[in-house]
Amino acid sequence: MDIVFNCPKCDQELAVDASGAGTEITCPSCSEKIVIPAAPRSSGHLPIMPPHSGDPSQPVNPIASSAAAKIERHLKVPVRNEPAASLIEKPAKPLEVAAKESDRKLRIKTIRHTDCVEVGRDRFDDTVTEFLQKVGEPHLVSVTPLTYSYVEIGSQKIVTDYAVMIIYKG
Ligand SMILES: [Zn+2]
Repeated sequence: MDIVFNCPKCDQELAVDASGAGTEITCPSCSEKIVIPAAPRSSGHLPIMPPHSGDPSQPVNPIASSAAAKIERHLKVPVRNEPAASLIEKPAKPLEVAAKESDRKLRIKTIRHTDCVEVGRDRFDDTVTEFLQKVGEPHLVSVTPLTYSYVEIGSQKIVTDYAVMIIYKG
């Protein structure tokens, strides 16, 4: 469970593991030393309790659970560093998206007429139209008509057909 609070100095939203409540940390945004407030519901030890609370007859369990809690407190110390690391990732995400938007690469798409002929239906124009609309006019670089030859399986004849080569940024 994370405590989400705002830095009192720079108002940066910070998310810290609940185990860090009351700890002084350095704000990753303004480098001000701030104290993590307590979680609204401090249920930090609850996940440990239920497995042991089922056996109240055994006196070993409370000792085991408190020992476990002590170990956990020690383990939680390095955990406090993690929220600072994850905070750095937050502003990085929009940057990645921005890079994808502007980092369009030149791509090529060849649509062959034969690939667009369905039974009794020629969908070449529709297929090309759909593709061009998907790419969008601002990203189109060029559209080049091509012809190509192939051996038709049924008749064993060499057939010349046409295709279109689309170069676009995407
Ligand atoms: Zn701050």
